[in-house]
Amino acid sequence: MRPDQGVVMTSANDVDVVVAGAGFSGLYLVHRLREAGFSFRVLESGGDVGGTWYWNRYPGARCDIPTTDYTYSWDPELDREWTWSEKYATQPEILSYAQHVAKKHDMYPHITFNTRVKDAQWDDSTRKWTVRTETGEAITCRHYVMATGCLSVPKDPDIPGTENFAGGVYVTGRWPHEGVDFTGRRVAVIGTGSSGIQSIPLIAEQASQVTVFQRTPNFSVPAFNGPVSEDRKAPLLADRDAYRESAKWTRGGVPLPPSEVSALAVTPEQRREMFEAGWKRGELFSILGIFMDQSTNREANDLVSEMIREKIRATVKDPVTAELLCPKTYPFGTKRPCLDTNYFDTYNKPHVRLVDLNTSPIRTITSDGVTFGDETVQFDDIVYATGFDAMTGAIVSVDITGRNGTTLKKKWEHGPLQYLGLMSTEFPNFFMITGPGSPSVLSNMMVSIEQHVDWVTDTLVHMRDNGLDMIEPTDTAEAGWVRHGAEFADISLMKDTNSWYMGANVPGKPRVMLPYLGGVDGYRRACNEVVERGYLGFSMTGPGGKVCNDGVIRSVQPDVFIVLDMMSQMGLPPMESMTPEGAREFSNASGAMRPPGPEVGEMVDGTLPGADGSPLEYRLYRPATKGPHPVVVYFHGGGWVIGSHVSDEPMVRDLCVRSGAMFVSVNYRHAPEARFPAAAEDGYAALTWVNDHITELGGIPGKIAVAGWSAGGNVAAVAAQLARDNNGPALCGQLLLTPVTDGTKEYPSLSLNGEGYILTKSLMDWFWDNYADRKDRSHPKASPLKAASLAGLPPTTVVTAQFDPLRDEGNAYAEALREAGVKVTHIQAGGHIHTSISMVGVILSGEKHREKMAESIRGFFA
Ligand code: NAP
Repeated sequence: MRPDQGVVMTSANDVDVVVAGAGFSGLYLVHRLREAGFSFRVLESGGDVGGTWYWNRYPGARCDIPTTDYTYSWDPELDREWTWSEKYATQPEILSYAQHVAKKHDMYPHITFNTRVKDAQWDDSTRKWTVRTETGEAITCRHYVMATGCLSVPKDPDIPGTENFAGGVYVTGRWPHEGVDFTGRRVAVIGTGSSGIQSIPLIAEQASQVTVFQRTPNFSVPAFNGPVSEDRKAPLLADRDAYRESAKWTRGGVPLPPSEVSALAVTPEQRREMFEAGWKRGELFSILGIFMDQSTNREANDLVSEMIREKIRATVKDPVTAELLCPKTYPFGTKRPCLDTNYFDTYNKPHVRLVDLNTSPIRTITSDGVTFGDETVQFDDIVYATGFDAMTGAIVSVDITGRNGTTLKKKWEHGPLQYLGLMSTEFPNFFMITGPGSPSVLSNMMVSIEQHVDWVTDTLVHMRDNGLDMIEPTDTAEAGWVRHGAEFADISLMKDTNSWYMGANVPGKPRVMLPYLGGVDGYRRACNEVVERGYLGFSMTGPGGKVCNDGVIRSVQPDVFIVLDMMSQMGLPPMESMTPEGAREFSNASGAMRPPGPEVGEMVDGTLPGADGSPLEYRLYRPATKGPHPVVVYFHGGGWVIGSHVSDEPMVRDLCVRSGAMFVSVNYRHAPEARFPAAAEDGYAALTWVNDHITELGGIPGKIAVAGWSAGGNVAAVAAQLARDNNGPALCGQLLLTPVTDGTKEYPSLSLNGEGYILTKSLMDWFWDNYADRKDRSHPKASPLKAASLAGLPPTTVVTAQFDPLRDEGNAYAEALREAGVKVTHIQAGGHIHTSISMVGVILSGEKHREKMAESIRGFFA
């Protein structure tokens, strides 16, 4: 401990750390920084602690995470000494909790109130920040932490004529401390987000007339508020430490077992029953997680959304108003849903009116009313519940100038560039608590706040202990994290909705996903891993030297990461430790658990003669469109050892539907029973047979191509070469998905990606050993890359995956084909592994690549 521990420094103008904000983040920072012995100042624009709960005093303001969870975990006594009066506590009660904590831990003397930070400037020569306040103070500090909250800067009311109104004007996020009495008054409320939805029922209890101006209806579920239930208290009382710890490892920061049921896999009755059970709990995370696929699958989401709409229709008596209140233009959960008490029922009151701004837009606000559509209505008061410049607003409202005069505002012009939502390059020693790029607003804020404050303080202690006084993320790490965040957004239903999560509520704000969608648990793991890997992606310097362990913390696609993680937790035995029969059984059993893929028009099973005359099974997948169709002869993956004509069915169905081509998926003889060149020759025999019978099969003569995945890609590539060399069939194209092309050489990717990505180097060696002797592997029928010439092959699409051991040989084949004059489309799937593109209905990020593959197939036949 340092001597200055506990020393109050409210007037010091040179400290270790300046913190902006004394909400729940700032208060916990006081605790941690003081305990760690740093000198610090906390500057707060409000007149007291509490942040959000200091400013948002509108009627009905309360939290919408169960209050027992929406509390600090760092002081265990608080759980015993503080009793919440309700499941969802009101703003005054939460504010007094913040005040209680601040008093109990003697935090007030550390905080300078009524002091807003105006600007902050980094000085590279002194390696310090100078923070200036609107009250004229300048404080230098080694580290500057913004704990300014995510929803703290009200958005400008972008409505014409706001300045004209002479009556009472109230903004929910800046409510008068003395409260407002609306008794007998005519009130206009603009906005139906959480703030509007919480306040409208209470305003309507007093006012003589309430007119709600709604632009977008919101999904809202009843809170069923009341005393804290025994089942909420029980786990905390039983083992509070375990309960608090478990919250840290959940998706949202509230202990709740994740759903394992698909909304699409249950009967309508079961679905209804599960929905009603979730509904009754009156908790946002419950209703958001009834079904495992409701936030990723539009169809599943539609089912839940419709059940919520039914509840609205059942509550609101006037059917026209009910329909206007039903959200229909976006999936449930993609805009922040709300929790309410009597919101929809309020519209049954005769003095409450709903105006739909989509059909009756506000033309102007006048001195005594609002002109909208073709009417003007007089009001005494207007309440703006129009939301916030979320997540970035408070940060860029301070002029923050980093290295070389770079301002954060300029750097973030097109979206917040940051690493882990904690720091940003060019802004050394500058930290954000629950910043954009972290789960923050999608989680129980208390859990996320504590994690960030702990991470930042632990980092400062680490630096001090190691003689390091400057920290900054690297460009590589920052770009990687921003890309990872965008990849999460890409596979979510949220990206297409106009929400404040996407910055879409503020005119001119760049449209990017602001919070991190990987969950509190996934995010915490990433942050912990960064530290465990020597502060991966950070550069730290100081008298103690320089440490920079550059890199990207998450480079596989988010959904690929989740699947890999699940598989590693299952502790499956390596396939190469099994017998070939065992491996086949294992692969069939896991195949049976996959989603089946989309419906095709027709599936027909049959046999065709293989190279040695023995029958090979095939399954034909016909599109639902009118035939005849172009034909793709498809060869499955499985290292020549496992798999069958139906083992790649979900992907084959998917490609059939997307491309409009008919697929004939053919089995071939497997190793080690039938070794090289059985598979290769069967492939060519099957191709020839399909071509010879193309009309009977419903195909178009002359419109034939081959395709295959992995070892099937190898079979397809060899079949294409044999077709070229044996005068036919003439192919329109070949599609090779992560193919095996060369068994003679160890390409770097074989060892680089040789472990941890499902197909391992050791499994690949096992496949080769089963299939072909070493001496045979240079034969073009085993290694198509070894062909004397690749000229004259049909247009080719090669798909390679970044984390595939076979990546480099796939790339080499694409390159060699191109050099030989073949028309090549090379799809390089960033963040993917050998198997992920084929995982239909599981790995959503593979979809765009399958769409490109389908486009290539359509191109072959155009
Ligand atoms: P919000 O969710 O952004 O809602 C703002 C509302 O105002 C929306 O209905 C919006 O319509 C409307 N609006 C904005 N500009 C408008 C304009 N120019 N003309 C007409 N309508 C306009 O803001 P909020 O209700 O203050 O809530 C923000 C967030 O704070 C919440 O999502 C939640 O995370 C948090 N919050 C939490 C609690 C709680 O814990 N209990 C309470 C309040 C707030 P559009 O939807 O069409 O943009």
